[in-house]
Amino acid sequence: MTETITGCLWCSYRGPLLAGETVSVVNPQVSLAHELRRCPECGEALLDVRWPDRVVRRKAREHTRRFRKSLWVVVYPVPCAWCGSTDTEAYEINATIANPISERFKYDIYRCRTCQRPNAASYLGEIHVHRADQDREYTALWHLDPPEEPPA
Ligand SMILES: [Zn+2]
Ligand SMILES: [Zn+2]
Repeated sequence: MTETITGCLWCSYRGPLLAGETVSVVNPQVSLAHELRRCPECGEALLDVRWPDRVVRRKAREHTRRFRKSLWVVVYPVPCAWCGSTDTEAYEINATIANPISERFKYDIYRCRTCQRPNAASYLGEIHVHRADQDREYTALWHLDPPEEPPA
């Protein structure tokens, strides 16, 4: 399977991107090389991930740190599990989940910009999205698949 990828995922630019170095990311789906790309039009960052049979392009966000290398976060295409909107944005990386499906899974929290509700996404092999709920007492803790109407 070959997939030719062109252009930017952030804007409508369809030309070649500016190539950059290989970076390590804080939330990889797979332990493959992530090569930095920059859109010459909007200036946003993307990562080309080299799978054995294809290259997958992802959006990326840079978190700069003083005196240290930047942290790179992959922004996966996560559809909202509440309303189906694809307008979601990574909000918390490697979140603490009270009830993970498996201890091997790592979860990122994505906020939906359409319905404002949180989702938890895991990436192992493929992308799984769950409805998420922030713990009322311990705000650093998240619950997967809360009941539709949380008890009062
Ligand atoms: Zn762009
Ligand atoms: Zn939503």
